[in-house]
Amino acid sequence: MMAERLEKIRRVLDQRELDAVLFTHAANIRYLCGFSGSEGALIVDRQGSFFLTDSRYTTQARREVEADHVVEYRTMVEGAVAGLRERGFRKVGFEADHLVFSRLEKLRCQSAPDLEWVPLGSEIRPLRGVKSSREVEIIRAAALLNAEAFEEIQAMIRPGISERRLALELEFALKRRGGEEKAFDFIVASGERGAMPHGLASEKILGADEMITIDFGIRRHGYHSDETVTVGLGRPPERLMQAYDVVLTAHDLAVKCLEPGKSLKEVDAVAREHIRSHGFGEFFGHGLGHGVGLEVHEFPVLSPRSEDVAVEGMVVTIEPGIYIFGLGGIRIEDMVVVTADGCELLTTIPKSYRSFAG
Ligand code: ZN
Ligand code: ZN
Repeated sequence: MMAERLEKIRRVLDQRELDAVLFTHAANIRYLCGFSGSEGALIVDRQGSFFLTDSRYTTQARREVEADHVVEYRTMVEGAVAGLRERGFRKVGFEADHLVFSRLEKLRCQSAPDLEWVPLGSEIRPLRGVKSSREVEIIRAAALLNAEAFEEIQAMIRPGISERRLALELEFALKRRGGEEKAFDFIVASGERGAMPHGLASEKILGADEMITIDFGIRRHGYHSDETVTVGLGRPPERLMQAYDVVLTAHDLAVKCLEPGKSLKEVDAVAREHIRSHGFGEFFGHGLGHGVGLEVHEFPVLSPRSEDVAVEGMVVTIEPGIYIFGLGGIRIEDMVVVTADGCELLTTIPKSYRSFAG
């Protein structure tokens, strides 16, 4: 499994005429050698790979890392520089999206004066974009936890409970089922707060006749789920009921048109155009979706500016929304995997409109 992944890096070495690539981003390191800790570095060259970490992690690394060598360092910079010097490397790539500037400065300062550091962006950004069938099954299992946890707490969605309490109950339900950690701070935004796309759960108490947007997910075996449900209490404002229909249809249209070869900008446009044509265009500001995997937001992007194209095996979200200041908001989010001739839902909570109590 790792050999195939390292092969992708060897192609980058050839393409950019590099001796090696230094990885410091935890998700990429986990993908390339299996290390699940938070601090380490992986150097991949033409012959093999070596993993470096500090004393807190060496035991764990010897157990789980698939690399030719595991080396303990005092500081990452010291360890990486020594490893590169030993091998006489002259041209080394690094993750331009992730390596912190001050660390790069230290690497430059301490490595041999003729060592060239080459920023890599588009060459490695798609690295984890296409999932293996095994990865898809792990993600599907994480998505199933969402459905089970939501089922468990849905009786609590009624006037009188606070947003934060709902978020906490969801987190308990997910972790009781084996979830490792929440994928992000849950969004529970009711009533007017629904107008904030990222309205974190607050002390607000759910009232009668409101819409509630709940965006939640969990990490399991390193992979994430991410799903948004918007439900009603009683009789929410008529305009929001209309908006719900529009968002749901936009979501369905996007799911229907996503297939291999399709530009993701186009998929975004299908949903966006539907929302615009129903007079809600100004209320949908964010992109339609994003890749999900070892990180909850990763390559590719579905947005008006995306240059990415759908490939079989990609796992992405479809999450159109409408947010109206002073009134409330709707978002409907599912995760899908791109299949040979379309895409398949991984999240399973029904998205047709549901009204709870009231
Ligand atoms: Zn989400
Ligand atoms: Zn999302």
